[in-house]
Amino acid sequence: MSVTGNALCLRCDSCGAEVDLRRQVNLCPHCGGLLEVQYDMEGLKRSADLFRSYTRSSIWRYRDFMPPVADQNIVTLGEGGTPLVKSRYLGPSLGVENLYFKNDTLMPTGSFKDRGYSLAISFAMDIGVKRGITYSSGNAGASFAAYSARAGFSGVVMVEYQASPMKKTMIMLYGANTAVLDFDNFAQIEQMLDRAVTKLGCYAFVNFINPIRHEAMKTYAYEIYGELGRVPDYSFHPMGTGGGVWGTWKGFNELAAIGVTDRVPRMVPVQPEAVCWLKRAVDSGAETAEMYGDSTKTIAQSISGNSPLQGGRRLLRAVRESGGMAMAVSDEEIKAAMVDLGHEGIGAEPSSASAVAAFKQAVKAGKIRSSDTAVCVITGTAFKQPSVVEQIAATPKYTIRADVAELEKLLGQLHML
Ligand SMILES: *Cc1c(COP(=O)(O)O)cnc(C)c1O
Ligand SMILES: [Zn+2]
Repeated sequence: MSVTGNALCLRCDSCGAEVDLRRQVNLCPHCGGLLEVQYDMEGLKRSADLFRSYTRSSIWRYRDFMPPVADQNIVTLGEGGTPLVKSRYLGPSLGVENLYFKNDTLMPTGSFKDRGYSLAISFAMDIGVKRGITYSSGNAGASFAAYSARAGFSGVVMVEYQASPMKKTMIMLYGANTAVLDFDNFAQIEQMLDRAVTKLGCYAFVNFINPIRHEAMKTYAYEIYGELGRVPDYSFHPMGTGGGVWGTWKGFNELAAIGVTDRVPRMVPVQPEAVCWLKRAVDSGAETAEMYGDSTKTIAQSISGNSPLQGGRRLLRAVRESGGMAMAVSDEEIKAAMVDLGHEGIGAEPSSASAVAAFKQAVKAGKIRSSDTAVCVITGTAFKQPSVVEQIAATPKYTIRADVAELEKLLGQLHML
């Protein structure tokens, strides 16, 4: 193929002049008209098969690995199939060439919660359940609201009072019944949910209390394996309830059990220092984790839960059996990691950047070798928590009038002329 491939040249709308495609040109050099790329139609014909077999990937590609849902009950917005982006700067700067970001900021409602809610709402419809409740720090509520709306499912979202205003707004946009939830600690929420299920007979969509939701998180393992063609050495996860890490670990174990791979990654759940109950339990060798810390003392709102569900046994198991580690990061480390991700072209909310902050910490502590492959799951978009983004992103340094002389001066200062 020539350097231009099937594209031939640029042609001017006004005078018909043809211009070399690879020349740096904006307007027609002869008359100033607009230029349009021209193609060799015979060449394009040879690529027409592209249109005869189109499949868009989503978590439903792996439906054989999930609880069954009849076709007509599947509620999907195209969740899953997100890119695994190789780090260009951060990994190499720390001497680790194989650092990857699993970019779930691109999900339909902007967070990885969509994997779980697509499956859980579809499954509920399939077994004839038409109403349910969830509790949320914001992203789960938005996802639940969006999928409920599409399904015609009646949901009530209880959203934490300290959730970012944008998260509350998105829940309202998707049209769910919403209650702002006031509480002192997460143990109270757990108790309320327990009673809602046992006394009121509610169907709840909170991780683990709902046994279906985290099954969809297995698709993290499947997709990462699919793209890498191997299992990474380390899998870093921002952890709130732990549904994401647990499901991913389960997925990797299934790949091993069916003979696709012969090992699983070391699982690394990451919490804010303010509430790091899992790290405390792992470090002290405890059988179960205890409530710890103050949820209001971190910017990582999506992972600020300070009370483990039923002793956090599942998470302790995933860390111990995989040979992984539980990590804690500070808000300062999280903010620095948000900037690192920004330079890689990924806008993450603080909770999501915690995975990257932990990766940096682990490399600096000598826990990761330069030959290791690590994946950081980037669970949610920066758009959902704009207040922190505004704090850390610089404001524009220059203001100019729409005047070419001012632009010329600026470009001169920047050595760009
Ligand atoms: C919910 C959430 C988490 C934590 O997920 P769990 O499955 O509860 O551990 C992490 N990051 C973001 C952006 C979230 O919304
Ligand atoms: Zn039981």
